[in-house]
Amino acid sequence: MKRGKILILVSACLLGINCKYDGSNNLAPKIIERFEEEGIVPVCPEQLGGLATPRNPAEILNGTGKDVLDGKARVYSNSGKDVTASFLRGAIETTKIAKKLRIHYAILKSNSPSCASKRIYDGTFSSSLVEGNGVTVALLKCEGVRVYSEKNYVDILTK
Ligand code: SF4
Repeated sequence: MKRGKILILVSACLLGINCKYDGSNNLAPKIIERFEEEGIVPVCPEQLGGLATPRNPAEILNGTGKDVLDGKARVYSNSGKDVTASFLRGAIETTKIAKKLRIHYAILKSNSPSCASKRIYDGTFSSSLVEGNGVTVALLKCEGVRVYSEKNYVDILTK
């Protein structure tokens, strides 16, 4: 039986949009090739949260994205600015898009404090990774969205 068209939420930086903190992107051309027949919906939670581009990089300190949602951890830029409110707003707006468009799958950038679905930086800005989701991914998962990254998306439509 022919499968109906599905929509997939994708980190805008993976699509070549220059929304990364340093004004560049993380283009992953194979994602576009693989899903061009489906509907790709680009999102950048940090821009949706009101942060500028370029901006200082940020990391979650002493916790995960879920801890940020629960008020147990906060997000700081490398200049020490508390940017938690922007990260929460970005998570809420991104999740709103997913719900409005009834999106059940996402491919979001690994290691990001917003978009990571496996490991995040540990808050020390030393490139050290710890287990955990980014803030937006934590909220998307609460809403039942299946989140993959640019590293493990290949079987997204087979599960
Ligand atoms: S918030 Fe997500 S989409 Fe935006 S630049 Fe960071 S990793 Fe890419």
